Parts: sequence; C-alpha cells; structure tokens
Amino acid sequence: MDKTFHIVTFGCQMNVADSDWLARALLARGWRQVAEEDAWFFVVNTCSVRDKPEQKVYSELGRLLAHQRGKPGLTAAVGGCVAQQIGRGFFERFPFVRLVFGSDGVAGAPDALDALAEDPSARIALLDFLAAYPERQDVLTPVAAAPAFDADQGEPDAGPAQAFVNIMQGCDNFCAYCIVPYTRGRQKSRHPDAVLAECRLRVEQGAREITLLGQNVNSYGLDPASRGGGAGVGFAELLRQVAAIPGLVRLRFTTSHPKDIDPAVVRAFGELSNLCPALHLPLQAGSDAVLKRMGRKYDRARYLGIVADLRAARPEIALTTDLIVGFPGETEDDFQQTLEMMERVRFESSFSFCYSDRPGVASARMTPKVEEAVAKARLNRLQSLQNAITKESLKSLEGREAVVLLEAKSRKQDDGPSFWRGRDEAGRVVNLRLDGVEAAQPQNAGLELAGLLVRARILEAKNHSLLGEKVGQPW
Ligand code: SF4
Repeated sequence: MDKTFHIVTFGCQMNVADSDWLARALLARGWRQVAEEDAWFFVVNTCSVRDKPEQKVYSELGRLLAHQRGKPGLTAAVGGCVAQQIGRGFFERFPFVRLVFGSDGVAGAPDALDALAEDPSARIALLDFLAAYPERQDVLTPVAAAPAFDADQGEPDAGPAQAFVNIMQGCDNFCAYCIVPYTRGRQKSRHPDAVLAECRLRVEQGAREITLLGQNVNSYGLDPASRGGGAGVGFAELLRQVAAIPGLVRLRFTTSHPKDIDPAVVRAFGELSNLCPALHLPLQAGSDAVLKRMGRKYDRARYLGIVADLRAARPEIALTTDLIVGFPGETEDDFQQTLEMMERVRFESSFSFCYSDRPGVASARMTPKVEEAVAKARLNRLQSLQNAITKESLKSLEGREAVVLLEAKSRKQDDGPSFWRGRDEAGRVVNLRLDGVEAAQPQNAGLELAGLLVRARILEAKNHSLLGEKVGQPW
C-alpha cells in the first residue's frame, strides 16, 4: 500500500497545529502528502466544540468512503476530540477506520500509521491520557514543503511564514459548558526548552510570525505535570524568551483565560516590540450571574480592569472575544449586559454561538434552558451589534499605514489586477494590489511573495477586511 496521506482538519488552531505537525512527521518518514483522490490514508482531525460534531465527522467519513471503490485497502484515521469521545466505536461503524487517537495520542500517530501500512489487518487506538506533555518526535525535522490543509474554513488561513507552536495541552478549568477537559485531558505544559527549540527552528526555516498555542496559555507552567520540570518558567517569561529569538518579527498567542492573565503578561504588550498588538480574550457572557454559573471565576469588573490595563500598556491593541448566548438561566437582562459589555469594550470581532449541551458537562444539567428561538434572536442582535462595531473600527483605519505580512493570493483572481491577502500587526485581513511586484518577479508562481512584509496605506474598510495599497517594496 502506498504511503500517501491526506489530512482533513476541523476546528481550532490547536487542531490545525496538530495536523501540521503530523504532516511534517509523516513527510520526514517518507510518506507523501497528496490530493484527496490519490490518497490511501485519510486523517480526519475532529472537533467537538460546535453543534452536532459527531454527525459532521460521520458525514465526512461517509464522503471519504466513496474513495474506497476500487481501493479496497484504503484507510482512515480519526483524531481529536470526537475520536476521544467515540473511541473504538468508530471501528464498528466504519470498518475502514483503523486508527483512533486523542490529543495525547497524536504523538504516537506517525508510528501507528507506519504500523497500519505494514499490517493491513491492524487496528490501533491511542486514547489514554498521559501525565506529562507527550513531546513529539520529528518536531524539529525540517521539511521542504509547507503542508496544505482542508480546514473547515475552506482553505488555510496562514502562509508559509506563520508557524503555530504548542506550549501545552489540555485544561484544568472545567468551565460548566466545556468539554475540553474531558476530551483533551488535564493541563500539561511543555518544557520551555522544547518550546524554544521548536520556535528557533521554525524561525530558521523561514517563519517570521509565531503563534504560541494552548487552551489556556496564561496558566502555562502552573500545572502539577510541569512544576519542577519547567525550570519555574511561567508564561510571561516564556513570552520574553521567545520574543528574543533573532529574526522573529511577530509573536502572538492564544487562548487566554481572563482569570489567569498575569500583570507581567499585560505589561509585556508595552515592552516587547514584536508582540503583536492583539489579544483574544474570551468574555463568554456580560452578566456576573451568568459568568458565575459558567464557572468562569472572573466578573465584569475584573474583565474591564484587564482591558483598561491592556490599553494602558498598548493603546492600539485590538481585542477580540468569544461569546455564548442562551446559557441556561440567561434572562433578557443578563443578555442586555452582554450587549453592554460589547459596547464598552468595543471588540474588533467576536465568535458568538448559541449555547448547546455537551454530554457530561455541568451545564447540561442546569435549568431552565433558554428556548432555541429566543437564543437565536439574541444571537442575531449580538452579531448585528458586533458587525456595526467591526465596521466602525475598520473604518477608523482608512488613511493609516500598516505593515502587512503577505499570506496568499486573494481568492478571487480574474484577468484584472492581482490582489494579495495578508494581515496587519493586529491580525486584520488586508487585501493589497501588488501588480508591480509580481511583474518584477515573473518566475514566481505567486508563492514567493507569501511571507514578505509590505508597508501599506489603508484605502477602504470592507465589512470584515481592509483594502490597501503598498507604499514601499516588500522585504
Ligand atoms: S478555560 Fe474553560 S472554556 Fe477554555 S478550554 Fe478550559 S474549560 Fe474549556
């Protein structure tokens, strides 16, 4: 059986990073990454945060099964949160699934795939949670080509100069609605030396921007699994050490829990010039009563205090957030307080969802549930307000200059001028016309501009992005 693979990724950036690592590890072992129709091995990396996650994975597997016609040995591996929940159940329902692995099992997935390629009758389950961060083989292996993904957004949102580096796995917070501690296990921080070694290597390989990833990066180094082994390095210190890597132009991190953000991390926004002026700080709800039921362990006042401190440290910082609408017991008054927090903080953008029960979490047993129609109507109101704030905020940037890191050609390319998509320092999408630059480099197929920085003037704010023009040559 040909060692050819194709990865389909659902969900968060941690899943994208896991798929990225898995692809690099397989490439380093001589596997080939190919188009879906040419692959003998499919890896489906799953997410259970959104609604009906199992159905989504089942329908994806059903779709991939169609490729089995004429390829009887074709194999699927299912990883991530849904794999952790359903486990061996996948073997019964889809016999072509021969590997299931949870987030602690990712480290063993390349060996398991090698074993499956050798033995067509083998089935492997990697579902145990481990006590410490499972350091991955091949993580430092340079590869010639950047892996490509089918993320559920339709295409990758990062270019070759952007690297995602895991610093921890799992979470200890047990927020009432969240399934992560059950599907990704308890928090385990990665040793700082391993984080730094991977970051240095990624910069040497061409990364100009690094995003440090974890479910709750602000509690990095505080878990029992890492205390003693992590040389006392907390998240603020880790940020400083990564920021000091020569050649690193941009540093980001996600996700932050407001209850754990250290004043030293807030100060870092004013002290580290390559720490990008952007922070995703999940609020989840604007009412103290709802926050308490959610088990978030902060209140409005604490959240607003952090926002004030961040803006004092870095006035231009762009804040984004997550919000849940219709949490059990949420009243109209509670919801009004969420709207009010959105107005006060003026988030640049937000991910907002209607609450839905997840199996086994505390909020599944909470009552009264908010009627679906009421929750949907509230979500519409919240998103309308966000859209208006986003528009105003983008509009305020017209005429200003920004440095844009180019990611890829903009999706819509006709015979007209050539546009490139990139991001400014705060992570906003900027589309730029770059005709002259491509003409100067006719031999590149559009790839070599990805990863370059270009100074741009913002011409126009669109609904969710900016349109700009270059005011200097890319570097
Ligand atoms: S902090 Fe809360 S919402 Fe975030 S992963 Fe942990 S339990 Fe889930």
